[in-house]
This record gives sequence, C-alpha cells and structure tokens, in this order.
Amino acid sequence: MKLTCGSEIIELKPSKIVAVARNYKAHAEEMGAVLPSEPKIFLKPPSALLPDKGQVILPKASARVDYEVELAVIVGSMAKNVTSESVSKLLLGYAVLVDITARDVQSAAKKQGMPWTVAKGYDTFAPLGPTIVPAQNLDPSNLDIWLKLNGEIKQQGNTNLMVFSVTELVSFISRIMTLEPMDVIATGTPSGVGPLEDGDVVEAGIEGIGTLTFTAVREH
Ligand code: MG
Repeated sequence: MKLTCGSEIIELKPSKIVAVARNYKAHAEEMGAVLPSEPKIFLKPPSALLPDKGQVILPKASARVDYEVELAVIVGSMAKNVTSESVSKLLLGYAVLVDITARDVQSAAKKQGMPWTVAKGYDTFAPLGPTIVPAQNLDPSNLDIWLKLNGEIKQQGNTNLMVFSVTELVSFISRIMTLEPMDVIATGTPSGVGPLEDGDVVEAGIEGIGTLTFTAVREH
C-alpha cells in the first residue's frame, strides 16, 4: 500500500509485521497476564495491512473482535544483531497501527497452547497510517497514544509506559530474525481494549503522527 513519509510517497510492502504482546503493564493486567521478562512477539501477515480510512471486516468466524492501538515502527534498512545504540539510524519512521484481534479465537488458542496466527491474521486486521513520520523527526519514547470508538475515548496512554522501549524491541527482534526495509513492528497496546461492532467508527491517534481512521463492517 502507498503512503506518505515526509515529502515522499512510499510503497509499504513489508516482508513481515512483528507484533509485541504485553508491552504495557496496564494492558497485561487487564488480560490477566504476567509481565514478560523479555519481549513476547508474534507475526501478523503483511496481507492484513489496511490503508487509512479503510474498512475492517469482522469475520463470521469470530463473535468478538477487539481494537488495540499501537505505535508502529517502520524499518529503514537491513538490521541483524543490532545493538540498542545503533537502532535509531536503521529506522525509516513511525505510524499508527491498530492490532485487530479476534479475541474469542485468541482465547481458544491460548487454552489449546496453539499460536495466535488465526486470531491476528485476517485480512484488514492491521490498519496502518495516516502517514509515516520520518524517524529523525520524532522521539518515540514519550508520546500520547489514544483510541476513540464512535467519538468516545476508550484507550489513553503514553509510550513512556512501554515495558520495552522501541530500541530494546528492535535490537531484541533483530537477534532472532533479520529485519528488512519496510518491515513493521507493532509495539504493543495500552489498556482499554474492547470489541468492535458493525458500523463502528474508530479514530486512533499518536501525538506527533496523526489520526488513523477506519470503520468496522460485519462480514455477511
Ligand atoms: Mg497488540
């Protein structure tokens, strides 16, 4: 998908979306989960990406689909085994991503000890936008982050509440898998996650980046 990055228009075609679970204490608590001692990651397929002002499809297979607003980090150059100190020059920029989650499917997977691929992987489950703010223009460590559902504030936090910082996350992930240009890292959600219904309008914002908007539509 195409979106702006500063004065340029870029084609965002990541090889992978790496998402981080339980990276805000209050969200870990609301999910009844313990805080991890190292980052807990999973993958979302790039086919889940949805541009700003798109429609998130609530699949028939799920009765409970949740929103999770997250700071997205877009990788700028190949990163393998990078130290925290060298992360910043490898990043392209930052955007807003909503990690859409089929919560009932995820709960069943957790019980069975199965992966979250289905719960996190449906088409349209990764709205991203409204732009990419170049990395040199933004310090990601202290940004207000929020989500409004039909005009009502549901999630409100600050990236300074992350358990693992952007640099720690990128360094950690790069020691497992090579990060390639345009790869996306979703850095976890603050508390206040909740369900989407047919016709809902969501505005998800991060200070210094802007507001991503989408509507939810039930699959028929
Ligand atoms: Mg998430």
